Amino acid sequence: MPDNIVAGGVSVDTRHWIGGRRVASSETFTDVSPIDGGTIGEISRGTALEAAAAVAAAKAAFPAWAATSRAERARILHAIADGVEKRIEELSIVETTDNGALLRSHRRGVIPRVAHNFRFFADWLLKLEHEDFETRGHTNHVSWDPAGPSVLITPWNAPLMLATWKVAPALAAGNTVVLKPAEWSPLTASLLADIAAEAGLPAGVLNVIQGYGSEIGDALTSHPDVRRISFTGSVPTAKRIAESAAGNLTPLSLELGGKSPLLVFADADLDLAVDLAVEQYDNAGQVCLAATRFLVEESVAEEFTRRFVEKAARLTQGDPRDETTDIGPNIHPRQLEKIDAFVQRALAAGARAVIGGHRKDTQYYAPTLLTDVAQDSEIVQEEVFGPVLTLQTFSTEEEAVRLANDTRFGLAATLATGDAERAERVTEQLVAGTVWVNCFFVRDLQAPFGGSRHSGVGREGGTWSFDFYCDVKNTVTAPNGGKNHG
Ligand code: NAD
Repeated sequence: MPDNIVAGGVSVDTRHWIGGRRVASSETFTDVSPIDGGTIGEISRGTALEAAAAVAAAKAAFPAWAATSRAERARILHAIADGVEKRIEELSIVETTDNGALLRSHRRGVIPRVAHNFRFFADWLLKLEHEDFETRGHTNHVSWDPAGPSVLITPWNAPLMLATWKVAPALAAGNTVVLKPAEWSPLTASLLADIAAEAGLPAGVLNVIQGYGSEIGDALTSHPDVRRISFTGSVPTAKRIAESAAGNLTPLSLELGGKSPLLVFADADLDLAVDLAVEQYDNAGQVCLAATRFLVEESVAEEFTRRFVEKAARLTQGDPRDETTDIGPNIHPRQLEKIDAFVQRALAAGARAVIGGHRKDTQYYAPTLLTDVAQDSEIVQEEVFGPVLTLQTFSTEEEAVRLANDTRFGLAATLATGDAERAERVTEQLVAGTVWVNCFFVRDLQAPFGGSRHSGVGREGGTWSFDFYCDVKNTVTAPNGGKNHG
């Protein structure tokens, strides 16, 4: 098998990156193009052996990296950000080739944010502090000690963005990392290893291991030398990881799925509400935060639906490399089958497709809006992770809140209302890690990010990330250093 493949004109190493060296497995798996279903290339298919080697490399590199000054760690993180910025074009085309999300979004938003992830946590590290405080004359001093080797497991819907959201704070905190990207989008993690090495990150501080989660996941998550596990992905995988980590009580951060509502009140600016609604087709609906359940006040539901259908009809679907495309392909034929199965079951149960309701071809699913759906139906309760939205109506604020909260998830909620007091009242009652009022997807790394209920455990962002990746310590010193004793 060749060690490199060419994706979107860019050469990418298909092997693992362990202890500062490229390591191949004897077997491979096929990376499939979401754009045309063809083969992008063969990737090293990791085994428990390579997983153990990656953890060993992270363990060996930990003492020196943990002892590296904050200023030096921050300098290297900024150098990684510089490397990302120099390669925005290459990273964008490789990511689009691999996961099918829009090239223009990668170029203008997503990949620049990858660089920002490193800069943000480098800067945050340098100002991380907690004011000392006194207890009966004793001084309390809070500090953050690096926790140790961290396993970071990521999904395919925003591969490099979500990976670096974990890699950057873990490295900033002084931890070493084993990154396991999703098997449907393995390529940009390999490029990140190159960029980090060029930036001067010492060997073994960042390791990348490729392969199927079902084959190497347990070897990583049950390893006694792993001190933190951060996972973004689906609920069933999270449960599996939690079981595997339980033997060592390894602390977990879990960012999981959602079934978030968009609540549209009659007092809302309806054009704004429709704009927010149509945005939910972004990334072909493969967005954890997507507001996939429209809850619309009865009196404006007909007009809202009319304007939504009109606007959705103007969206163009096609090749994600084309500047004019709004909706690209779904990641994999298996994902399309899953999406279609959800929709066909909903239609069979009595739902009506206002638009869509079918596949377009082998790579694309028609943007879909379903009505006449029962609150307890599968299509309202379960995450589809495709361009499939539902619409229900409500007649009172209480009913809106009840419907919004009535799933097992609690990742996000979006509100469209012209009444600030209502916004405050409703927000207080919503079960969600993030609430957007008259806006969507505005995110700042200082803010806590995460989900309630089955949408996750823990929060990422700013201090919350450092609290997770560190052993937070409180040192209590006697008055006058203890010199007055006796
Ligand atoms: P997934 O759970 O199938 O896979 C995620 C990762 O877990 C992959 O790298 C996979 O290889 C790995 N994995 C699989 N089995 C494993 C095991 N037994 N042990 C360890 N690792 C294992 O999820 P997916 O289909 O890649 O991603 C889609 C899901 O991710 C959706 O549910 C979506 O909502 C969620 N997601 C959540 C957020 C968030 O921040 N809350 C962001 C993006 C995606």
